[in-house]
Amino acid sequence: MPRPIEALIHTAALAHNLGRARSQAPNARVWAVVKANAYGHGIERAFEGLRAADGFALLDLDEAQRLRALDWRGPILLLEGVFEPRDLELCSRLKLWHTVHCEQQIDWLAMHKTHEPHRVFLKLNSGMNRLGFPPAAFRAAYARLEALPQVDEIGLMTHFSDADAMRQGVDGIAHQLAAFESAADGLAGERTIANSAATLRHATRTAGDWVRAGIMVYGGVPDFPEHDAAHWDLRPAMTLRSKVIGVQQLQPGDTVGYGSAYRAEQATRVGIVACGYADGYPRHAPTGTPVLVDGQRTRTLGRVSMDMLAVDLTALPASGFGSEATLWGEGPVVGGNGSRLPIDEVARSAGTIGYELMCAIATRVPVRSA
Ligand SMILES: *Cc1c(COP(=O)(O)O)cnc(C)c1O
Repeated sequence: MPRPIEALIHTAALAHNLGRARSQAPNARVWAVVKANAYGHGIERAFEGLRAADGFALLDLDEAQRLRALDWRGPILLLEGVFEPRDLELCSRLKLWHTVHCEQQIDWLAMHKTHEPHRVFLKLNSGMNRLGFPPAAFRAAYARLEALPQVDEIGLMTHFSDADAMRQGVDGIAHQLAAFESAADGLAGERTIANSAATLRHATRTAGDWVRAGIMVYGGVPDFPEHDAAHWDLRPAMTLRSKVIGVQQLQPGDTVGYGSAYRAEQATRVGIVACGYADGYPRHAPTGTPVLVDGQRTRTLGRVSMDMLAVDLTALPASGFGSEATLWGEGPVVGGNGSRLPIDEVARSAGTIGYELMCAIATRVPVRSA
């Protein structure tokens, strides 16, 4: 019998969330962003729920190969473009569209021998200051690409740093949007500028020809806690669940776990759940992090260890050995209603974001589609 922990990937939730991206930006096409092994969900499993996407956006060439192996014939966009000249051969062979964010990538294209010209997206650095051409160099880069026989259509792209919130007290996207609009003014080509946060919060200004929906298709909320998944009508695509494999009765003054980080003030019934940081549960989650046991909300106690964590069963007398623990996602039906624990709440308690928790699911956790 393996450890009782498992991750469930909810195919129908992925399809629903993809539909939410469409309804936010009805005139745009939707890239489902599946980088980082589909944010930890697994490309192959995520593909089941996302096959209605217009295209898939990712970073790693081997992930692009995996998508082609699933018989996906539609567009695939490499969000960081190629990393070395010979990657262009794979782009030709697999018909990958690629981002061009620097002069070196144009140099490599100019030397590339291909029968079929490539579709590229030229990336503007509109203020994020990670990748992209500065506004002053954007038109010259466009002209260089336009002159290359290796290049077919040129799309235009940028990425927001603050689409999820205000920036220094004002509209988070205005400065970047203005930079993009002025740099792209008059240039032919499809536009793609919106990530999930922009798609949810600023679709009328940012939808363009393609939106790039990442976290939202997995049911994570880019602007939590200002908004939650219910507000945006997003459903969790991943459940992490396990079982209570031990029960302890603490007396006042007793402690639980490493460092005696939790000390009981009164009689406390503790469940030990088979889930720890080696499964991808955040070690920094403090006492009080929400968890469901048999679909009822309770809290963690003390430090998360490698293979186990402790939960408070004091108010749940019917729960105990063998009870189901939902670390995040969909819990069991209780009294006719489904129970749910948003990953965003767990992430917030642990001082991180849902993105990081999804991506960190450990390889030792068995994954199933549900
Ligand atoms: C990861 C990524 C996205 C998706 O971002 P979300 O916040 O997950 O929607 C979009 N565009 C680029 C360039 C990315 O790297």
